[in-house]
Amino acid sequence: MSDFDGMVALVTGGASGIGAAIAAEMSRLGAKVGVLDRDVTEAADGLFAVRADVTSADAVTSAVQEVIAQFGQLDVLVNNAGIGAQGTVEGNDLSEWQRVLDVNLLGMIRVTRACLPYLRQSAAAAIVNTASVAAEVGLPDRVLYSASKGAVVAASRAMAADLVDDDIRVCWVSPGTADTPWIGRLLSRADDPAAERAALEARQPHGRLVSAQEVADAVCYLGSPRAGSTTGIGLTIDGGLVGLRLRR
Ligand code: NAD
Repeated sequence: MSDFDGMVALVTGGASGIGAAIAAEMSRLGAKVGVLDRDVTEAADGLFAVRADVTSADAVTSAVQEVIAQFGQLDVLVNNAGIGAQGTVEGNDLSEWQRVLDVNLLGMIRVTRACLPYLRQSAAAAIVNTASVAAEVGLPDRVLYSASKGAVVAASRAMAADLVDDDIRVCWVSPGTADTPWIGRLLSRADDPAAERAALEARQPHGRLVSAQEVADAVCYLGSPRAGSTTGIGLTIDGGLVGLRLRR
């Protein structure tokens, strides 16, 4: 028996980076996996990919219904779709705040609301949300992004309290800088991409970027019935960035 035998998972942002690694790992562990992404061109073969933007309640509802029509049930929801933002508190205008919160916070809320009626019917329901270390430490030039991920953590904890009597667990992961196409795009815009990458690696005490697979492994644990007594908490996967104070 594998962790997810007989179970169905939905992974938002599952066509790239961390979400793609989560979808692949859950599939390897026996789940039938639906991928919800605004761009499914890169979604892995063999997964049930549905194109939808998490900023549209109608699109999200249709996508969830497509997954239910395909698999007949839903047990695990991974809210992973997200976008970045750089800037100080004065650096992003309010329309940018609305755009980023609409994806990173309200996207999670829309998908969760659409999935809850089906999760309530599962015998092993779990929601795992992708937050970030930016929710836990003060990073320069990341006010909006950090606020969006702090909101993901706070909402996840409160949802865990509301849903515990429904036997739906809610957890989150907080990755450090992870080696994904997102970071590739960030580096390609830097004046000196190699130096920027070295700086990001040096920021993490273990001296390298986090792999998408390491985040996927944590999400699979939190989402699986093996974590049946674990709810309202997050796992931080950051090479020690949040917790360690080193003297070198
Ligand atoms: P990525 O850009 O490689 O993948 C993100 C995926 O989300 C893409 O497939 C994209 O199409 C999808 N997406 C974006 N907006 C969407 C929308 N409105 N509707 C539907 N799908 C949408 O990025 P990644 O690095 O894999 O990041 C995944 C998650 O991990 C994000 O929530 C991000 O905030 C978080 N995270 C990333 C890092 C990192 O360093 N890469 C660190 C901490 C947290």
